[in-house]
Amino acid sequence: MPAIDLSHMDTSVRPADDFFRFANGKWVERTEIPAEEPVWGGFSEIRDRNLEVLRGAAEEAAEGGAAAGSVEQKVGDLWTTGMDEAAIEAAGLGAIAPELGLVAGLTDRAGLPEVLARLHRARLFPGFVTVVRQDPGDSTRNIVWLQQGGLGMPDRDYYLKEDERSREIRARYVAHLARMAELAGDGADDARYAAATVLTLETRLAHASMTRVDQRDPYKTYNKVSLAQLAERAPGFAWSAYLAAWGARVEEVNARQPAFFAELARAFADVPLEQLRTYLRWHVLRALASALPRAFDLESFDFNSRVLQGVPQQKPRWKRVLESMDQRIGEELGQLYVRRASSPEAKRRVLELVDDLRGALRERILALEWMGEATKRQALRKLDAFAVKMAYPDKWRDHSALALDRHSYARNVLRANEWATDRDIAKLGTPVDRTEWLMSPQTVNAYYDPLMNEIVFPAGILQPPFFSPDADDAVNYGAIGMVIGHEMSHGFDDAGSRYDADGNLKEWWTKEDRAAYEARQDLVVRQYESYEPLPGQRINGKLTLGENIGDIGGIKIAWAAFQRMLERRGPQAPIDGYTPEQRFFLGLAQSWRNKIRDEALRVRLNIDPHSPAIQRVIGPLSNMREFHEAFGGGPDAGMWRPADARPTIW
Ligand SMILES: [Zn+2]
Repeated sequence: MPAIDLSHMDTSVRPADDFFRFANGKWVERTEIPAEEPVWGGFSEIRDRNLEVLRGAAEEAAEGGAAAGSVEQKVGDLWTTGMDEAAIEAAGLGAIAPELGLVAGLTDRAGLPEVLARLHRARLFPGFVTVVRQDPGDSTRNIVWLQQGGLGMPDRDYYLKEDERSREIRARYVAHLARMAELAGDGADDARYAAATVLTLETRLAHASMTRVDQRDPYKTYNKVSLAQLAERAPGFAWSAYLAAWGARVEEVNARQPAFFAELARAFADVPLEQLRTYLRWHVLRALASALPRAFDLESFDFNSRVLQGVPQQKPRWKRVLESMDQRIGEELGQLYVRRASSPEAKRRVLELVDDLRGALRERILALEWMGEATKRQALRKLDAFAVKMAYPDKWRDHSALALDRHSYARNVLRANEWATDRDIAKLGTPVDRTEWLMSPQTVNAYYDPLMNEIVFPAGILQPPFFSPDADDAVNYGAIGMVIGHEMSHGFDDAGSRYDADGNLKEWWTKEDRAAYEARQDLVVRQYESYEPLPGQRINGKLTLGENIGDIGGIKIAWAAFQRMLERRGPQAPIDGYTPEQRFFLGLAQSWRNKIRDEALRVRLNIDPHSPAIQRVIGPLSNMREFHEAFGGGPDAGMWRPADARPTIW
């Protein structure tokens, strides 16, 4: 695989007019999104390769002979039950009889806290979501987080917006709810009534839900309250009884969206029990559809993928089973993945890049004109404290308490879910485990965690087109370099900058510097709101602000690190007619090659804090003097932005 694939490029376009097309135009022309996918691109190609590796690992593990309790036994058993469609059909809804029985047995409102707690323990989440995370006010402690939820559509807006497309999706959703109720045994009239019941209650919750933009605000979503305060502010539901039944002996929780919990508790007190049962049953079926007979699975695909995202065809079962396994036993699957696919060479070299980028960011912070000395000192303290996790965990998590067998896929899924809840509960009152990973090693992604103040790069993304040991440095610094710089920038984006070096939500900025930063953020918001990826639908500049800051900063940091590397190793000759500077930008843009269905793009514009791939390339590069210089762009170029409209942050 060449580092830069010349056959992807459309050189009939002037690079400074539309660099995404220049780098990827021919690829875009000849690539068809596979019928089973909402989107296709560099990320998807790696994900597909990883799935093939995982399939091999799972099949081998399933052949038998693995020691009881071993990773191979658990992977093999979950895989085998997941692939056994005949057994799933034969079991029917009997496989989840305990959960359905729990809901049907709710005949006294006083029993609601316990029923809800037991469903939540199995990670079936009607109403809201309960997890254990660090306390943003004291990152050395773990506390219970209560998060708004309980909706079957992707966001509150889907219930509340009145445009034609939103109304159409709502109508399709009601039909979907009714069909699921029929599959669960309701007659046509009951099913229609069930659908209306669910839509009414979810719409009520949607009204009380915090917007996605507000949810990005670390202060708005930090509401640590004692259980007595919670009972006072969200009366109508026995929170203490709920938490005790869930398994947490705690005195306080972080109830992240206070208005939501107040309304939810009111609803739990005044909605007729028979309607609450209908709502709970829907969320049990919805969450487990992929482990139920084909009719449920297909119905779920039909609404969530076909209607919402325009995907014509369901993925083959083996991919869906592996994706479900990845969510539940991702790290156990990951042990098998790492043995087959991880490269110590990639790990070592990308760690070098991280060092280079950290040094470059340090210099950039020192040179910032808009930030005062006091804030700079704190920023550097935070940067120096960044922990780095690369490829896969040094220490694998303990899976001895997870019992899986070859009897029932749904039961295995539920056991794995409860195991995750037990792991959460065990974190309460114990020191924060800094070795824990939030992504599995095979994940094609990376993250910054503000509470841990760490950047994490799973082995999954350390592959072409993001990193290749055979590529020239320019291409690697542009591709994986941007990813690394992006994650580092998250430590200092509009939300990440609210946390200090120790991961505590604590202001370490002077007032003047914070104000100067916010003025720069406004420029970023305005820039991205000028992009209209779909006719009539612009990017939400506030929703995507943190990611855009990450992209803009990330590319600059990667560029600065690349310059340091060139100084160290001396000038490099052009390859295929492109200078190292040009190849840096080509490597970056080709790693983001991407095609997406309009419907899928619309969903992402509504809910995804990331800008679409095209703007992730165009936006930051338009702001860069070095890009315009490398490709001879001037004021007449399509991507030109006047100097005073270019946000410079990091
Ligand atoms: Zn990000």
